[in-house]
Amino acid sequence: ESLSSGDDDLSTNAFTPSRVESKWSDTTSYVTKKKLHSWFQLADGSWELTTFISKSGNEVLISLSEGKVLKVKADDLIPANPDILDGVDDLMQLSYLNEPSVLYNLQYRYNRDMIYTKAGPVLVAVNPFKKVALYSNEYIEAYKRKSVESPHVYAITDMAIREMVRDEVNQSIIISGESGAGKTETAKIAMQYLAALGGGSGIEDEILKTNPILEAFGNAKTLRNDNSSRFGKLIEIHFSETGKISGANIQTFLLEKSRVVQCSEGERSYHIFYQLCAGAPGALKEKLNLKDVSEYNYLRQSNCHSISGVDDAEQFRIVMEALDVVHISKEDQESVFSMLAAVLWLGNISFTAVDNENHAEPVVDEGLTTVSTLIGCGVEELKLALSTRKMRVRNDDIVQKLTLSQATDTRDALAKSIYSCLFDWLVEQINKSLAVGKRRTGRSISILDIYGFESFERNSFEQFCINYANERLQQHFNRHLFKLEQEEYIQDGIDWTKVDFDDNQDCLNLFEKKPLGLLSLLDEESTFPNGTDMSFANKLKQHLNSNLCFRGERGKAFTVSHYAGEVTYDTTGFLEKNRDLLHSNSIQLLSSCKYHLPQTFASNMLSQSEKPVVGPLYKSGGADSQKLSVSTKFKGQLFQLMQRLENTTPHFIRCIKPNNFQSPGKYEQGLVLQQLRCCGVLEVVRISRSGFPTRMSHQKFARRYGFLLLDHVASQDPLSVSVAILHQFNILPDMYQVGFTKLFFRTGQIGVLEDTRNHT
Ligand code: ATP
Ligand code: MG
Repeated sequence: ESLSSGDDDLSTNAFTPSRVESKWSDTTSYVTKKKLHSWFQLADGSWELTTFISKSGNEVLISLSEGKVLKVKADDLIPANPDILDGVDDLMQLSYLNEPSVLYNLQYRYNRDMIYTKAGPVLVAVNPFKKVALYSNEYIEAYKRKSVESPHVYAITDMAIREMVRDEVNQSIIISGESGAGKTETAKIAMQYLAALGGGSGIEDEILKTNPILEAFGNAKTLRNDNSSRFGKLIEIHFSETGKISGANIQTFLLEKSRVVQCSEGERSYHIFYQLCAGAPGALKEKLNLKDVSEYNYLRQSNCHSISGVDDAEQFRIVMEALDVVHISKEDQESVFSMLAAVLWLGNISFTAVDNENHAEPVVDEGLTTVSTLIGCGVEELKLALSTRKMRVRNDDIVQKLTLSQATDTRDALAKSIYSCLFDWLVEQINKSLAVGKRRTGRSISILDIYGFESFERNSFEQFCINYANERLQQHFNRHLFKLEQEEYIQDGIDWTKVDFDDNQDCLNLFEKKPLGLLSLLDEESTFPNGTDMSFANKLKQHLNSNLCFRGERGKAFTVSHYAGEVTYDTTGFLEKNRDLLHSNSIQLLSSCKYHLPQTFASNMLSQSEKPVVGPLYKSGGADSQKLSVSTKFKGQLFQLMQRLENTTPHFIRCIKPNNFQSPGKYEQGLVLQQLRCCGVLEVVRISRSGFPTRMSHQKFARRYGFLLLDHVASQDPLSVSVAILHQFNILPDMYQVGFTKLFFRTGQIGVLEDTRNHT
């Protein structure tokens, strides 16, 4: 009998975080002694399954595929699992839980369209980039009846529902992964299951219809993903006492607004712009003076107008229908489209120099007049707002003319603000429509679809915020998993203090400490009128260089040691993005418009600056309004989010992107491995490994190894027999603990016993 996956009490986890660990040679000698398969890393980084031939000293002769024979160091071999463990549906069932074995197991399943695998309590989902037959009603029914057990989003979601009812505790499903890994699709699959089980009132259809709306306004084609979410989202779905869906609430995080005015070659701005241009009915087109996409500067600049396989006009019809379903009136819909058209036309406003000091004024042309018509203001007011700036010097208001580049920035800032206000307003309307009535008695399940850890060639303010959020989420993840472990230990009465685990608290402190943390220093520098990205970078180096998670770099850059690896940030643009100023002129302009949306936007902007949620008021120079900095606002949102999540039982889904081509059937080991590290799947393993990952009940242990005993044991009870076995085999006291019902072992301890057992 070998260690099979059916053996549910038994799992020996021998895991190497990076290549070789200290106690590794024991296992290697075991493997070579038994002539087992092992993994060998080739020069290109890929792993190959090898067969042992012979050994002399520390050198081993192995055979690779196609009969190639190689002499390698024994230490370079990593044990592979026996064939019967190929494709197990929980990684924890692997006898050897090392990196190549995990990679191989996921790949084995992926090749057979089994895209879901468990890693203990975590669900790993590998993006198939094609339709897989896993989501039919039959599947939903099967998971509901519990007649299938294979890992699935449905299974996790089902567990969330059951635990919500059983424990009377709110639940959360936390989905992470890098761009294109499948988070948004996974969130929709979970919602589909919830709607199927908790449907009936009709509100579930409304909830599902929020997806096409939010994707139209918040997703865009990027180089990584044709449908990339450019915001984070938490949707909280409420259930009545009878288990039916009673309503929902959506919270969004940090929409990437720079995309509205600027996007790189091959990418697009938000889908809705292209959908509107392609799909607006004739009358609407005329009313908004809509032109072809190629006529708008904001859309034209990236040389990418369409997405293969996507019909923007058809999508527009779907979005309009969805807007109806969530009770956005036709009138409001038209106002929304007017704002979108206004943003597009803003981008077409150009400026001319009016004096030899490079001061500029907008050209009075179709762009300018159309914007003024669409937002409902006079042409003169618009001109003024785009070419001047009011400053308060001592007690006098003075008017300053803007230079060409200042005027362009003001125009773009206005376009970005209108768009992000529109996005927030839409979410607010949707929330009103989905609102749970006053009788909010039941429970909820929240689904979090948020950007994963990002590390690019060049990392800016956005990556800084995103990675900070991931650092927080990772801590939540670690603590939860650790708590689960801890509970099991305590339940069985074993000594928990012998398990240590390092938190990422140090890195979080680097961000959050006051007054000398990254966020505080950023805000402080942002308040100085003369602060620059360079002075910010210097300040960081001055105050944080002793911090182990921080390293100053040459020029304007700095490096942070995140849990998922080091990231170097370039501070260029940090201050401007963090201040995110909209001149008071622009706000005044919007508030003076005759239509209700611009007015609402203006008052939302003002109220936001007056009522800080968290942290000190952020002041800017001149007559501009006081405003929370972007990072402070984000931090506030994040804290709120964490508080909400703390009160739930979490379920984690980690999405993995198997290749960078968005194409099916390609599984790149290096890429997958890097994601497994970043999203903490290997961390799960590490946490369990840091404790006593192998567990076996006293009965089972006594039954399995009792016959190896040389001396007679007076008492035949399983505990006494077990203890006698441990003594006979000299298992060191540090290597195991005896619980009430189970024995707990450190990694690899069972190997010797198994070996003896198999040779007896
Ligand atoms: P981003 O962070 O950029 O928003 P994401 O993680 O949300 O990325 P998705 O948009 O969910 O990624 O997925 C990208 C694409 O992968 C989808 O448009 C779809 O084509 C494909 N995909 C993801 N999950 C599945 C699935 N379960 N079945 C089939 N295709 C999928
Ligand atoms: Mg997404």
